Amino acid sequence: MDERERALDTAHRRAGEFLGTLDERPVWPRASLDEMLSAFGGPLPEDGADAATVVDEIARLADPGLVAIPGGRFFGFVIGGTQPAALAADWLVSAWDQNSGSSLLTPATVAMERVAGEWMLDLLGLPATASVGFVTGGQLANFACLAAARAAVLSRVGWDVAENGLRSAPEIRFVVGADRHSSIDRAARFLGIGTREIVIVDSDDQGRMRPGALARALDAEDGPLIVCMQAGEVHTGAFDDFDLLIPIARRHRAWVHVDGAFGLWAAASPSLRALMAGADAADSWATDAHKTLNVPYDCGMAIVRDPADSIAAFRTGGDYLIYSGLDPWDVTPELSRRARGVPAWAALRALGRSGVARMLDRLHANAVAMARGLAGIDRVEVLNDVDYTQVMFCLDSDDATRALGAAILADGTSAMTGAEWRGRAVLRCSMSSWVTTDGDVARTVAAIRDLVAA
Ligand SMILES: *Cc1c(COP(=O)(O)O)cnc(C)c1O
Repeated sequence: MDERERALDTAHRRAGEFLGTLDERPVWPRASLDEMLSAFGGPLPEDGADAATVVDEIARLADPGLVAIPGGRFFGFVIGGTQPAALAADWLVSAWDQNSGSSLLTPATVAMERVAGEWMLDLLGLPATASVGFVTGGQLANFACLAAARAAVLSRVGWDVAENGLRSAPEIRFVVGADRHSSIDRAARFLGIGTREIVIVDSDDQGRMRPGALARALDAEDGPLIVCMQAGEVHTGAFDDFDLLIPIARRHRAWVHVDGAFGLWAAASPSLRALMAGADAADSWATDAHKTLNVPYDCGMAIVRDPADSIAAFRTGGDYLIYSGLDPWDVTPELSRRARGVPAWAALRALGRSGVARMLDRLHANAVAMARGLAGIDRVEVLNDVDYTQVMFCLDSDDATRALGAAILADGTSAMTGAEWRGRAVLRCSMSSWVTTDGDVARTVAAIRDLVAA
């Protein structure tokens, strides 16, 4: 074997060893950042080393600092594991090293990405002619969609923001729900819309925007207007009522954006699809494949109803009308980049339409089982309606909830993250991994029961 083959062979073996430990290793990392910094740190060595030795060293040193995200009992944030076909395809992406910004250079990967986008639009019930920009994640998907929105709402009042900038532009009213994801505010910030300029609409006990409050917020509004709605609130999993809300926004000629980083996927399951009713009437949608579709990081999608709007925000020079088709760099902020659509194609091909639906139903069933198990523990209260993949719970005092959160991580059977909801400390379980079994849920509930009793 030559050096490259030995390095790849080592990576393959070491990856298999890591994946083989997932069922038994503590889910949370055993090593701290400082310990990892001293493991990897020190001055840059003067002399190089053999590739396979380097890979082996990485695997050995990193191991105690790795979190068992690809296993069945990681429920923190909203994350998801990795489908086998997507993981292996991701290795090919690195081996191929295709710079996939333009179709001229890399037709194979650009074609796979375009087809993955078309398949997704079909699965998610979105317009087949929308543009799909593959970006790093939900944050950049929100940014890319809202950049298209900004260009479009200003263009409707005769202002070309690409040419004239924002300094003297007509004011944009930027309207969000009280329980939006923080990446919406950040996207607004990147687009020149300050946090204090954001108009916040009241939400209900599950975090859904209140239609009456939206109507009041938009009263007499007729200038450039963007309204951000949400499919899947990160604590409760709740979906805005698009059937009610979008017509209200439309009466004021708003651009409607839906942040559906994990929620958009509900549309791929016949039994969960009703959650997304009416969402297809929006102008743009942000989602992640690295969450609910279970592909490796990084893979988000910025979906824009009229590709001309994303082109207006991102075209790289020249007259966009001369392009016969869409190049990836016409609809995203990036130029050079990895072929992140390939693992998405692989996951969709491996699962098929029925497999994606089954996976979604499984995630929801896991959430229902987790909620039921947790609710059966003395002192535990489940706080949300478990309509989708999220379970939020607490104990009878904030201190007890926080202590339980720390104890769960130290125990290592599972991992979940804490938050605040309506002034109370809570713990949240996101059931986003295709790997999670009934046994994983039962093991987690049993461990939490013991910790609460102790
Ligand atoms: C995770 C998430 C985001 C951000 O996505 P990243 O992939 O982390 O950039 C945005 N909105 C919602 C609702 C999310 O759950």
